[in-house]
Amino acid sequence: MAEPKENLQMEKIVSLCKRRGFIFQSSEIYGGINGFWDYGPLGAELKRNVKELWWNTMTREREDVAGLEATIIMSPAIWKASGHVDTFSDPMCDCKKCKKRFRADQLCEDQGLTLIKTADGKFALPAGTKCTACDSKELTEPRPFNLMFKTYVGPVESEDNVAYLRPETAQAIFAQFKNVLETSRQKVPFGIGQIGKAFRNEVTPRNYTFRSREFEQMELEFFIKPDEAVEAIHGSVATVPATGHPGEPQPNWGWQAWHQYWVEERVRFYEGIGLSRDTLGFHHQTPEELAHYARACTDILFKFPFSKKDEHGNVKGDELEGIAARSDFDLSQHQRFSGKPMGVFDDELRGAWAKLPKEKQDALWKRYYDNRKNYLTKSGVEAEAAQKQATADADGLAKGQYIPHVIEPSAGVDRLILALIANAYTEVTKTDDKGKTETTYVMKFHPRVAPIKAGILPLLKNKPELVAKAIAVRDLLRPWMNVYYDDGGSIGKRYARQDEAGTPFCLTIDFDTLGEKPELLDTVTIRYRDDGKQERIKISELRDFLLSKTR
Ligand code: ATP
Repeated sequence: MAEPKENLQMEKIVSLCKRRGFIFQSSEIYGGINGFWDYGPLGAELKRNVKELWWNTMTREREDVAGLEATIIMSPAIWKASGHVDTFSDPMCDCKKCKKRFRADQLCEDQGLTLIKTADGKFALPAGTKCTACDSKELTEPRPFNLMFKTYVGPVESEDNVAYLRPETAQAIFAQFKNVLETSRQKVPFGIGQIGKAFRNEVTPRNYTFRSREFEQMELEFFIKPDEAVEAIHGSVATVPATGHPGEPQPNWGWQAWHQYWVEERVRFYEGIGLSRDTLGFHHQTPEELAHYARACTDILFKFPFSKKDEHGNVKGDELEGIAARSDFDLSQHQRFSGKPMGVFDDELRGAWAKLPKEKQDALWKRYYDNRKNYLTKSGVEAEAAQKQATADADGLAKGQYIPHVIEPSAGVDRLILALIANAYTEVTKTDDKGKTETTYVMKFHPRVAPIKAGILPLLKNKPELVAKAIAVRDLLRPWMNVYYDDGGSIGKRYARQDEAGTPFCLTIDFDTLGEKPELLDTVTIRYRDDGKQERIKISELRDFLLSKTR
């Protein structure tokens, strides 16, 4: 049977990634380890560029975001409070005949079925579900499998010493919220960003690096005032159009405007590194999909070669990033579990509240009270205690106190790298005069993410003057960007090598550079990867030109 085209495309991408040193299988010499991947020389540069761009865009270039770098292993109490110990699981089932193990939802999906969620929160396989390996219909009932990797801290392997490798970077941000607030001189609204490793013991890692067991996340927790506080201060909460960028942040923005803002900011980020809007998709989580505390969640998708088609033949894409409006759930949980206050005091709110008419005060008090009570009861606090706490919380609001709400844009580095690679991958087939066809590969990375910004090529390697000049050009650029010196083989071969690496510019140092044509002294040929166009450029202008294209 012929391979489906999209799998063939993935196979070619995987093969190029290995051949050119973007991605290798982890522990390959020992047969590999499922769900773990290493980044080779080009992949490591690509990844660094992506993380640096995220960090610059999300923290350094903003007044209202500070950074954090927390540990991977943290107190297990954090994962109890966040809900991960009790509920961070996927439904898993086994084939009784061939013993193959599946993620139950994926097994159903692969057969065009939907896993059944029962009233008591459990799962059941729909009739007809079969093992995709051996066709047997004898499958175990789905059971939850916790995705956190467990380890022990210290020499004793006892339950008391259990710790987890973090399954997301977000929780450290919540746990350090107060420390960051106090040391960064930020005020709500503001955010905390973090990039780092996360680990999930995925039941079935698949689609190359898309679903790995060790991966990296780039997460922002953007803390905002509850809508009741915004309304008390500004009279009302801004309404924004449901689509499009809502513009520069405004003091009267509530969670909806902030959520919309971050979705659009993140799309701009992707566009800025070469993923055009038509390569992306969106999924707005339905009320059934949303966690009980979440107000909204928009997933930004990328159309990967393995992404499935819907019934109309359209590709929706697979998740690159989720942008969730998580209410005040996370900080509230840590306040309840740690017993440490996670609220902030807002002087503007206290002043504004005192000036509100009584009816408005009562209405806002009641709304805040209802939200808090709802959160507490849903989190298992019994009714009377929940009422008492919600009353105290709403009284606190009237005095300028609240627990910030949060908008969370959470992106996966590895999925983005895979998207960039899939997006860049281009085959060029040429037929020569004799009718012989040849296929070459060009990785059309946006210059901002390209692993190598410029290839530096002396026309001939046995001419010391050319080599010396080429090395001088390399040394001129090296402090500013990653460049690659290559003097091996014909110029055509060297261009082709750089095309496969995704290098957007090649600089050839030739006899004219040395002044053979006096008017061309100290100029080089710059060759553009995407259209093969060539022109002369002065060495003195190279740095600024390349920086303007690659930053
Ligand atoms: P999925 O539904 O695909 O499992 P998720 O909704 O569980 O993803 P989140 O918990 O929202 O993912 O994590 C945020 C981001 O982290 C995801 O958008 C994705 O880019 C990345 N991510 C999550 N799990 C993995 C994984 N196993 N491998 C690689 N990246 C991942």
